Amino acid sequence: MPIYEYICLDCDNRFDRLWPTMASAQDRQPACPACSSVSTKQAVSRVAVLGELGGLTPQEESASSAESARTASYTPKDQIDTLQANSQRKREQGR
Ligand SMILES: [Zn+2]
Repeated sequence: MPIYEYICLDCDNRFDRLWPTMASAQDRQPACPACSSVSTKQAVSRVAVLGELGGLTPQEESASSAESARTASYTPKDQIDTLQANSQRKREQGR
């Protein structure tokens, strides 16, 4: 079901409207839930709205941390030891 964001032209309220089908969203102006005005216009794309909210949904968040956990477990232990030794050496040289 498509979700569109609308802006009320009377009170600048922003609200989301969920439509049962893509076709039902065409050429519709939902009434503003704050002031009941039908002077509303469709706002920016849903992608931009998701960006404002900070991007990842909780599901995506857990999926990506599971991904990094899997990646970490693929790193051989001796390689990790080498990396740690290297960074320790860098720290010591920095003094
Ligand atoms: Zn309004």
